[in-house]
Formats: sequence, structure tokens, C-alpha cells
Amino acid sequence: MVKWQGRQGSSNIEDRRGQGSSGGSGGGGLGSNPFGQGGGGFRLPSGRSGGGLGGLAIIIVFIIIALAFGINPMSILTGDTSGPTTSSVLPPQNASEDELAQFVSVMVKDTEDYWGEYFSAQGQTYAPPKVVLFSGQTSSGCGTADTASGPFYCPNDRKVYIDLGFYDQLRQQFGAPGDFAQAYVIAHEVGHHVQNLIGVLPEFNRKRQTMTQDQANAYSVRVELQADCFAGVWGKGEFEKGFLESGDVAEAINAANQIGDDTLTNNTISPRQYTHGTSEQRMKWFQQGYTTGDPDKCDTINGPI
Ligand SMILES: [Zn+2]
Repeated sequence: MVKWQGRQGSSNIEDRRGQGSSGGSGGGGLGSNPFGQGGGGFRLPSGRSGGGLGGLAIIIVFIIIALAFGINPMSILTGDTSGPTTSSVLPPQNASEDELAQFVSVMVKDTEDYWGEYFSAQGQTYAPPKVVLFSGQTSSGCGTADTASGPFYCPNDRKVYIDLGFYDQLRQQFGAPGDFAQAYVIAHEVGHHVQNLIGVLPEFNRKRQTMTQDQANAYSVRVELQADCFAGVWGKGEFEKGFLESGDVAEAINAANQIGDDTLTNNTISPRQYTHGTSEQRMKWFQQGYTTGDPDKCDTINGPI
């Protein structure tokens, strides 16, 4: 169990739970086209930013390809590998979910502390992401977020979106219980925010526009593995601060194992379609981060993976 009770939470939590499909943000110029912002987030299980006509054209191509493969286009856009899931019903907002919300808030604060110190040591300032908790559906700078989207990072509005109901899915459907597994998910999404700040995501979203789908998928895997590595680096910081107990790290590694593309799809899709990496790769890069505690040792973009 992570030691989080009684510790301070983040002031960057946007709690939209209970607002249901009405959303909370007012839509921020999404208009009638849910993909209008060149959207698509960066999710646990990729994304894009930018937009413009080139971006829109790519998105349309993505949708066509997705439909050809029988995949929900939104899943491709947002990089979700969890696939369509259940429940348009609003989960009850109960005490345990409030506790979960508090846990998330403390973990987010811990990521702010870690990355704040890291950026500061580089002579830079860390601008943390907002973390949106929602239930059912909400609007984002990358289109509508819903329960089936899974957690994701949207570079357009620099926010992490998470439906706390995902954690039930993580535990039950993906077989990844434990609070540090939950923390890993947050740290991975925050890792995408760090990638956005250091230019990795913008470069990815620029380059992928001229890539084939296979090339973009392979690039996406590298980006995702770096987010896993950043999550591991943060995890090391948690350990050093005395917040972890025996078994916590194993929970995160198990989660990385369970959400590898090969495991998630039961080896039913071609590795060319992988966007997040195999279980082996995801475990390896989380561990690489955790072992080294050094973001500079997370070069999955150019190095061998
Ligand atoms: Zn991701």
C-alpha cells in the first residue's frame, strides 16, 4: 500500500464527476466535430496535437483505416488499446470513490513535486497538467472523453482525463489490482505531459503526419515506452521518499504486463499494429525508469527498445 493517507493533494484537480454527459468544460471550441481540434489524446493505452488541415486529413485517414480494421476510430485517435468497454451508466459517487479521488489527488501532487524538482534542477519551471476526474462523459480539447476512452493525456489543453471507474476495469478486467498500479496509470499520463513540455510529443505529432500507419505505430510505441519509463523514474522518487511498501512496485510492473499490446489483444493483432509496446517492453521500461531514477536514461525515442 502506498502511504498517502493524510498527505496533501494537488490543487490541479478538476472534479467533474456527477456532471455526466453534460460535460464540464463548456467544450472549448469543439463545435460539432468531436475531432475538430486535431484532437485525440495521449492515453495510457497515444495521441496527437496540433491540428490544422494536415492534421484533419490525417485524422480522416485514421478513421477510414480504423473502420477498415473494425476498430472504433476514437480509440485509434486517442491511442486507446483497451477497446470499447461497457457502461454508459454513471457510476455512483460513493465514499470509496471519493477516497479514490483523494488518492489520485495525492499521487498527482507527488508527480508535481517530483517533476517540479527535476525541471527546477535544469533551471526550468514545471507547469503541471490539470487532472480532470469525470464520470460518464466529458468534453476535452481532444474530443469527447467517455468511460470507454480510458485515461488519457490531451496535449491540446494539457489535461489528463480519468474516469475513476477505469480502476475497476484495471483490477477486474485487466487483472491489475493495487493502489500503486493505479498510481502508475497517473504517472504514465503525467509522463506524456512531460513529453509535451520537453518537445517529444510535438515532434511526434509533426513527424507522424508524413509517416505510414506502420511507421506511426512504431513511433507511438517508442513514445509510450518513454512514458512508462518516466512513470518508473517517478516511482523511484516515491520509494526514496518512503511512500512505498513491499509489493507496491510489483503491482505497477504487473499492470505494465497486463496492458501490453500483445497481452491485451491475446496476440490477435500484428505487432505492426502495436501502439504501446509488448508486455515485456512495458515492464522493461518501467523498470528501467525505476532502477535508474533518471529521465535521461529513458531514451526510447532514438535508442534500442
Ligand atoms: Zn500513453
